[in-house]
Amino acid sequence: MDVSKKIIEAVKDAGVVGAGGAGFPAHIKLNAKCEVVIANMAECEPLLFTNQALIQHHPDEVLQGLQIAMQATGAKKGVIALKKKYEACRKSLEGKIGYYENIVIHELEDFYPAGDEHVMVKEVLKRTIPMSGIPSDVGAVVHNVETLYNIKRAYRDGKPVTEKFVTVAGAVRHPLVVKVPIGLRFSELLDLAGGPAVKDYILVHGGPMMGSEVDAGDTVTKTTSALLVIPDGAFPHISRRARMEVLLKRAKAACCQCRICTDMCPRYLLGHSLEPHRIMRTVSYGLPDTEAVKNSLLCSECGLCEITCPMGLSPRRINSRLKRLLQEKRIRFPKSNVERERPERESRKYPTKKLIARLGLYNYSHQIQYANVRIDAKEVKLMLRQYAGLELVPLVKEKDEVKAGELIAKAPEGKPGINLHASIDGVVAGIDGSSIVIRRG
Ligand code: SF4
Ligand code: SF4
Repeated sequence: MDVSKKIIEAVKDAGVVGAGGAGFPAHIKLNAKCEVVIANMAECEPLLFTNQALIQHHPDEVLQGLQIAMQATGAKKGVIALKKKYEACRKSLEGKIGYYENIVIHELEDFYPAGDEHVMVKEVLKRTIPMSGIPSDVGAVVHNVETLYNIKRAYRDGKPVTEKFVTVAGAVRHPLVVKVPIGLRFSELLDLAGGPAVKDYILVHGGPMMGSEVDAGDTVTKTTSALLVIPDGAFPHISRRARMEVLLKRAKAACCQCRICTDMCPRYLLGHSLEPHRIMRTVSYGLPDTEAVKNSLLCSECGLCEITCPMGLSPRRINSRLKRLLQEKRIRFPKSNVERERPERESRKYPTKKLIARLGLYNYSHQIQYANVRIDAKEVKLMLRQYAGLELVPLVKEKDEVKAGELIAKAPEGKPGINLHASIDGVVAGIDGSSIVIRRG
């Protein structure tokens, strides 16, 4: 077996998925030839320090993971795309990078959403991914740095993914970054951070811009980058609580067609035909502008349109709803080349500091440290849907004894998917259609 195949098999066996976003299986990305592998170290969502902690404490593992990804894809170059402001990360990389051939650091400005793959490839390579395209269309593959860490552990050490680095921040007493077993309940994560520091809040899984609201009983998955306590009154609290019927009524009553949402949209600025103001007009007045509606499929759901709308409207959530409806009808936006970048793109990059102030999260945006502690979870609940794919099939039954790292679920026969491993030693205490619970003896 050649080296590429060995890497892909090891990464598949270890159940590695993209640790930063939708959780796309890493072995599928590694199975494409490319010129450049980019390690995404933008971490542009406010309050998140997960990747920064990982780079500072495990630079070698990330660099080795990048080297392995380059080997698998035949890439001649590796780039760590890092924000200029992450000085400590840069320092820890600089001490090591000289030992790795053809890997360089690319400094990014501090704007949102620098981590969007379309934006990142433009910034690093000056290449434009086609609309509805992916980085490999222009010779690149982009991996989150924790995915690279897991690729290294899978290929070099034969270790499956059983743990996750997570930021616990926002209105908590002791914000921290910590490595925990997959399946740990969010209530226990909150306890590690001293619990909520306010009475009224919502819990958000992921960043304040793109993350979703969750319950304390939900659990850490392979894509959990953060758990945030968002206090009442902060923008992400208000925007997530509004019902769709209310959003639509407000759009009809208040959208003044100023088109600021379009002028600030990162995808529009790259030259995509996405124009949220047109979508708002169509939805508000029931206009038959099918082209504008179809363009909602190009939306990354970054939320900048929501933040910048002077009337407090939510083109993002309306786009998101339209996207789901079109996807259910199996309507796709055909892959097509972008004619040209909008000339105003450079001047419209949205600074992260401004974003934090607008979100009402300034008081929670201070630097957070990594707590290098061992977490002995008494129980974990591992979800059978760990990423944007099919539900996995359990390979264990109730009362089975399992060891941490043992395979407990896999993709349905003949379907693409990932493996899932026990994250603690224990006994299978329950299985239903959506999860496996393991309790320590
Ligand atoms: S920014 Fe707000 S008010 Fe202006 S066009 Fe967009 S949705 Fe309408
Ligand atoms: S969420 Fe809004 S700003 Fe972001 S890509 Fe979609 S339309 Fe553009």
